[in-house]
Amino acid sequence: MGAARYNPILDERQGLQEDHLWPACHCEDYMKKCCDAAEKPRKAEMKKDSQQLSYSPPISLPSSTTPSPLRVAVGAYTSALPTSSSSSDDVKLNIWLPRIAQTASHELGHCFALDHCTYYACVMQATSSIVEDLRQPPYLCPVDEAKVGRATGTGERERYEAIERFCEKHVDAPTFAAFGAWVRARLGELGESDEPSAKRQRKLVSRKESRELPIERSP
Ligand SMILES: [Zn+2]
Ligand SMILES: [Zn+2]
Repeated sequence: MGAARYNPILDERQGLQEDHLWPACHCEDYMKKCCDAAEKPRKAEMKKDSQQLSYSPPISLPSSTTPSPLRVAVGAYTSALPTSSSSSDDVKLNIWLPRIAQTASHELGHCFALDHCTYYACVMQATSSIVEDLRQPPYLCPVDEAKVGRATGTGERERYEAIERFCEKHVDAPTFAAFGAWVRARLGELGESDEPSAKRQRKLVSRKESRELPIERSP
């Protein structure tokens, strides 16, 4: 794993904007700009064929009294962004470390036989650039979450609690502050009354063990 390419001193050269990485990449204006940039070549192509391509704005999520984990994460992220008074060593550590941790998580996923994710926003998605890489969330989608639970015999709640404890120690790192906030909100969604998921997962595994087929792996 090449850690050097994540060094914040290369950000400008790589077109990275710290204020538009996960979770701040969900900013509506930024999404519009990205969509426009991606649509431009296609639109030009379509024009040649005298066809029209309509642009659909990002889907608006229904409003709810409880802010979504993502909204909470955006708030935590923007409040933890470095200020002009932050020391450059701190900035380097707080920006660089989460990037390496996220890539390490992705690679660890492969160690558990997870392939690149094609389902949802997920740390296991494949990327084709550093910008794309750092717009991805640090968490697993429900599909891969279930696979890791199956592979490790641990539950969603148990893992979220461990992530929360880690992120609490690194609140000066915007991505960890955001991930910690996201995890806390998810734990809230899972509900206090939930049976500890590690126990539940283990039960599920032992119940399914006898009838489940082995995991299919690509060559
Ligand atoms: Zn990969
Ligand atoms: Zn996934």
